[in-house]
Amino acid sequence: MSYLFQAYSRWNIHIKQAKGTIAVDENGKTYLDFVQGIAVCNLGHCPDPVAAAIKKQLDDVWHVSNLFQNGLQETVAQKLANNSAGDLVFFCNSGAEANEAAIKLARKHTQKTKIITFQQSFHGRTYAGMAATGQEKIKHGFGPMLTGFHYLPYNEPDAFNELSDEEDIAAVMLETIQGEGGVIPASGEFLQEVQAFCRKKQALLIIDEVQTGIGRTGKAFGYQHEGLSPDIITVAKGLGSGFPVGAVIGKQDLSAAFSPGSHGTTFGGNMLAMAAANATLDIIFEKRFLDEVSEKGECLREELQSMLQFPLVKEIRGKGLIAGIECKKPVQPLIEELQTEGLLVLPAGPNVIRLLPPLTVEKHEITEAVEKLNNVFSRHSTVKQ
Ligand SMILES: *Cc1c(COP(=O)(O)O)cnc(C)c1O
Repeated sequence: MSYLFQAYSRWNIHIKQAKGTIAVDENGKTYLDFVQGIAVCNLGHCPDPVAAAIKKQLDDVWHVSNLFQNGLQETVAQKLANNSAGDLVFFCNSGAEANEAAIKLARKHTQKTKIITFQQSFHGRTYAGMAATGQEKIKHGFGPMLTGFHYLPYNEPDAFNELSDEEDIAAVMLETIQGEGGVIPASGEFLQEVQAFCRKKQALLIIDEVQTGIGRTGKAFGYQHEGLSPDIITVAKGLGSGFPVGAVIGKQDLSAAFSPGSHGTTFGGNMLAMAAANATLDIIFEKRFLDEVSEKGECLREELQSMLQFPLVKEIRGKGLIAGIECKKPVQPLIEELQTEGLLVLPAGPNVIRLLPPLTVEKHEITEAVEKLNNVFSRHSTVKQ
């Protein structure tokens, strides 16, 4: 019997130890881990420089209230601001909390209410996160929802036409690649249209980089591939290499909306989390590191394209080291067979296999992973194309 709420349908794997790309279960079986805590362990499991930073901080001080000055928060905030379109940072503890804060900030700053998001999006499980999420299954049974959210089709530049007379728009919020929604990259044309719409309506542009940020796509943030200038960027997953931490990065002109007493959280910017984030960003925001992510991403997609030429495969998508393999049937059985083969991967919706290797993945590990995928796909496809 379990004492846990059964809110997750868990795999029957118990990881006892992990380092880099490799995870080892309680029976000593090793896996190539292309889940990495869902785009969290971007430097692989237990990265030494981050471990050292946390260990040092453990001996100094763990936690002080946000009533005190916090130099470490300043240091991490400066790194986030210097590598993004934003200027000011608010630290929280998760992606949902970052999006929650972004929505509060947008409404307060603009004094408007409507938040435009997109079908198939995912923005977290709090009430604002759920309301922002364009997937009914996330909200089932939890109503009434926070009001004022409006969902448009993703990747359709014409979608904004229906809002041409709408004046009460506080913000448009989107992922540059829908992660949970199926690894669906937004087209450059669509993203430019989104930004132009925001400018026209004096609405804020909020980019949810919780999954795509912190180097995942080969740039510090996913929106930078299209040269956007978002007003607010939210991050979490990869920020602390596995230590829980989130952040809202906003432009200078939003400062008055988050004035003293307006928003807060006890644990936000915790010293141990900041030590982890600081060490993480020192590595990931290096241009050479990011260029390598892009290179390895190309290599991953090329190998997938050439080794997965099966009728079962509908499309291979992605950017940097987030990849999606859309199949013509549900992928859950394939995912379980891949586990037996020693490769851990995620679904993204019913028909998409999502690969999130660590950004430190080595080329031979990419090749091994694609071989394992090839083995399983071969078994599921009698005829090769
Ligand atoms: C995971 C995710 C969230 C939610 O983050 P949590 O830390 O689980 O609250 C929000 N947005 C996107 C795009 C995500 O991938």
